[in-house]
Amino acid sequence: MAGRRLLPAIVVVSLAVAGAAAQQQRPRIPPTGAIKKIRDNLYVIPGAGGNTTVFVTQGGVVLVDTKLPNNGEPILNQVRTVTDKPVSMIINTHSHPDHIGSNDYFSASVEVVTHENTRKWMSANPRVASNPAAMPDKTFTNRLTLGSGDDRIELYYFGAGHTDGDAFIVFPARRAMAAGDIFAWKMAPLIDPMAGGSVLALPGTLEKALKGIPNVDTVDIVIEGHGDVNSWEGFRDYVRFNRALVDAAKTGMGKKTAEEIAAELKPKFPGFTKDELLTDMEYGGTPLSRAVINVNVAFRELGKR
Ligand SMILES: [Zn+2]
Repeated sequence: MAGRRLLPAIVVVSLAVAGAAAQQQRPRIPPTGAIKKIRDNLYVIPGAGGNTTVFVTQGGVVLVDTKLPNNGEPILNQVRTVTDKPVSMIINTHSHPDHIGSNDYFSASVEVVTHENTRKWMSANPRVASNPAAMPDKTFTNRLTLGSGDDRIELYYFGAGHTDGDAFIVFPARRAMAAGDIFAWKMAPLIDPMAGGSVLALPGTLEKALKGIPNVDTVDIVIEGHGDVNSWEGFRDYVRFNRALVDAAKTGMGKKTAEEIAAELKPKFPGFTKDELLTDMEYGGTPLSRAVINVNVAFRELGKR
């Protein structure tokens, strides 16, 4: 079908348009920001790439994600304002450079933990793989428990989405979760097919997270990969939105444009389809333009089936 063969071109054009808009409007990447308390012993450092979650345990400081390269010192300076304990562990939510970039600043004795697919993508990147201090020491497949008591951290993996290595990190005693870029900026996620990401798999992965995390009803704070801290209810709405987007792409493919499909999602999901640039967003585009892109990505993935 000719329409199908045109789809990849449409996607490329959409991405190019979004990219051009991003370059014109791209704000500078904000530097590492001031540490913010979320709960007792749990903090977030914004800026310079992805959010860094800081969890102060008895044995040391656990960092979730380490921003772009060369931000180790600013991260440590922020940590030092709340504790003198050494950094003892890094967990990376996924393999992107704005989340793993400063792993190597922290000494090689710090344990780095990731999903096994994240390690695979880090190994495939020569700049990361050539630096043993940046590389994961421990990986997990579906589940991993780290620590105990109030210091317990639960790692979960439910399938592909933003990449195919997106880890959900739960701090049960703090009733909080760090989600990485599978949930960022309160908009449909960037899908990175070069790192195994899939927009068609995304809703199922998110729904498994909603159902599969035990006592998840006690989790009421979700730290996004970039941007603000959200609520569990906000996360639930986001899951519904991504399901609706993929369902609409499936039924609309060949009949409607991505723009029409995204516009039809507006009444039910106004926040996720806003046509305005968010402050401090590093890579441009509006929630609406991202929704359009993801419908096009869904068309492309459906065309390959
Ligand atoms: Zn990412």
